[in-house]
Amino acid sequence: MKQNIIILGSTGSIGINTLEVISYNKEKFNIFALVANTSFKKLYEQCKKFKPKFAYIDKEDDAKKLIDLINSENLSIEVIFGREKLNELVSHDEIDIVVCAISGSAGLESSINAVNSGKKILLANKESLVMCGNLFMDLAKKNNAEILPLDSEHNALHQCFAANGDKALEKIILTASGGPFLNNQVQDFKDFTPEQALKHPTWSMGKKISIDSATMMNKGLEIIEAMYLFDLKISQVDALIHPQSLIHSLVCYSDGSVITQVSKNDMKIPISYCLGWPNRIKSGIDIINLTKQEPLTFFEISKEKFPCFFLAKEVAKESGSYPTAMNAANEVAVKYFLDKIIKFNDIYKIISGVMDIHKKTTLISIEDVFEVDKESRNLAETIVKKYK
Ligand code: NDP
Repeated sequence: MKQNIIILGSTGSIGINTLEVISYNKEKFNIFALVANTSFKKLYEQCKKFKPKFAYIDKEDDAKKLIDLINSENLSIEVIFGREKLNELVSHDEIDIVVCAISGSAGLESSINAVNSGKKILLANKESLVMCGNLFMDLAKKNNAEILPLDSEHNALHQCFAANGDKALEKIILTASGGPFLNNQVQDFKDFTPEQALKHPTWSMGKKISIDSATMMNKGLEIIEAMYLFDLKISQVDALIHPQSLIHSLVCYSDGSVITQVSKNDMKIPISYCLGWPNRIKSGIDIINLTKQEPLTFFEISKEKFPCFFLAKEVAKESGSYPTAMNAANEVAVKYFLDKIIKFNDIYKIISGVMDIHKKTTLISIEDVFEVDKESRNLAETIVKKYK
């Protein structure tokens, strides 16, 4: 029987790749619902091709435009809008798989709803784990929700653990491309523009994660994601720069063995792994020819160039509400950088400014998480004024 899928963030980079993998495996999956924020035209094109039962768009005005387009094609698709409706939709009984690919903290509420409904969850939205990793994983356990990581590094780790287990595990090492500014001098960093920062050398991704990759906050978010996802101490999680992005993380065992997953750097591989799990399905990507690759290299991460990564490591050690506050501050800073209101180096200054003031609390409920998120955003907004 076909499995019913909802894609939260279908018009984004992960969403589009997921639909491509599904189009190679039509006999296995059925698109039940597609979800976007504002891109109603893209969503309409996807509706025409995949004919979901439901299409969600955030605002009523966009929903009306989408309905007109859908009616013009005589498609039988129910268009819905508004957060409450989205929460209901995610929990729909007929859904088997939820792809959580909304970017940033906007993805948390729907990810939590998916977890509470005990679905199979393909998690791209790393911010859900950064904001409330313990709560998220506890809810998943309680509700029998299976969480499969789409993030390529965590997906590689899942593949290594699936084959080798986690007995005698010493540590894991996440690989990082180093982003577009890896080879620049520290003194150049202050002048980088959003256009330069968005040009990732090895991955094609949405704007927010591309800027996070340029500051290497992305790797900071990912060590926190890994810590919660695989139930590790932060002392067991490290990262290394590997500019070719072909070795997707490493698992180190106490006998000195290191296990890895190697593939082309294309998100359709982790996506097909998660969709097919525990089997393998077609990804549309060829097996890598190692004789045709440039030599594989590895470097330590520079503290001078990438302070955001080291700040995230400290934040991970503290845990509690610290990662929630850091995530909020980062989102505010990235937005102002993309809007050209602050400079590249101000991103770190704003986040560390928030972390200096933030008072750690224990997150007991999701309401606590949203409260810390809101306070930290307000604090970041105040600090941004200094750099405008
Ligand atoms: P994009 O910016 O490309 O896409 C984001 C998607 O989320 C879009 O479909 C957008 O809709 C939708 N969206 C945003 N806000 C809302 C909202 N409030 N309600 C409903 N839909 C919303 O992001 P990416 O695909 O690059 O990343 C998605 C997530 O996956 C992020 O958390 C990222 O960190 C993670 N990830 C991404 C990777 C990648 O290769 N891209 C790799 C690993 C992880 P609209 O088009 O209408 O704006």
